[in-house]
Amino acid sequence: MTEAMIGARMITVTERFDGAGWPATARTDVGRVRANNEDACAAEPAIWLVADGLGGHAGGELASAAAIAAALRTITSRRADGSATEVLNEAFAAAHEAVRVEGRRQDMASMGTTLVAAYVDAGGRTWVGCLGDSRAYFWSGGDLEQLTTDDNYAADLVAAGVITHTEARTHPGQFMLTKALIADDNAWYPPAVVPVVGAGRLLLCSDGLNSELADSEIAHLLADGDVTQSADALVRAAVNAGGRDNVTVVCIDVPG
Ligand code: CA
Repeated sequence: MTEAMIGARMITVTERFDGAGWPATARTDVGRVRANNEDACAAEPAIWLVADGLGGHAGGELASAAAIAAALRTITSRRADGSATEVLNEAFAAAHEAVRVEGRRQDMASMGTTLVAAYVDAGGRTWVGCLGDSRAYFWSGGDLEQLTTDDNYAADLVAAGVITHTEARTHPGQFMLTKALIADDNAWYPPAVVPVVGAGRLLLCSDGLNSELADSEIAHLLADGDVTQSADALVRAAVNAGGRDNVTVVCIDVPG
């Protein structure tokens, strides 16, 4: 909340959060192989989220939905007065607690989820928090940048110089997450927190997108049309390329 003097009266202004008016579209598709869609997503005023549930059967679906709801609640209530690190740490901690509660309720200790969240703070700055192998990309000035690093074994091998980025796309380590929000894991993994700088189109996605499409294809489809056309085209392309996993995207136009 901010306060301002107008005439002789003190009035209180509730932040509107710049991103509330930005064009954004969320899309998810079960794909061509899986029976269930374990991904979840949300596009709310100036808060956007993607979660990729793990654990099979209903577990993944419940975990991703619980994480999104808890993170959304926390970011909504905290973003006016917390730093990005504080807000995102609290949101991911709340999401993890929600997954733990759901795991106990369903007696499914192995359920879990990834989470990537973006929000606009009271100063109009956009932030991304990420845990797991869901990603944030930013298309700006003709270039596609992957803002996040996958929390999986293949990415660790790339960072250590053992395999290349291209080899990681087919390496079995891509399916071995090193961090996620798991019901029976009490460890605290803070999310990676990344600012979004400048104007461009932000993409949040589950790995069902980037495992089917090369970054060059993602760049081409992300750059083309409005956010709804772009989101639809990205999901359609991943499904047409095989659709071996659930596919989820949120596209957001950031005015910078
Ligand atoms: Ca997935």
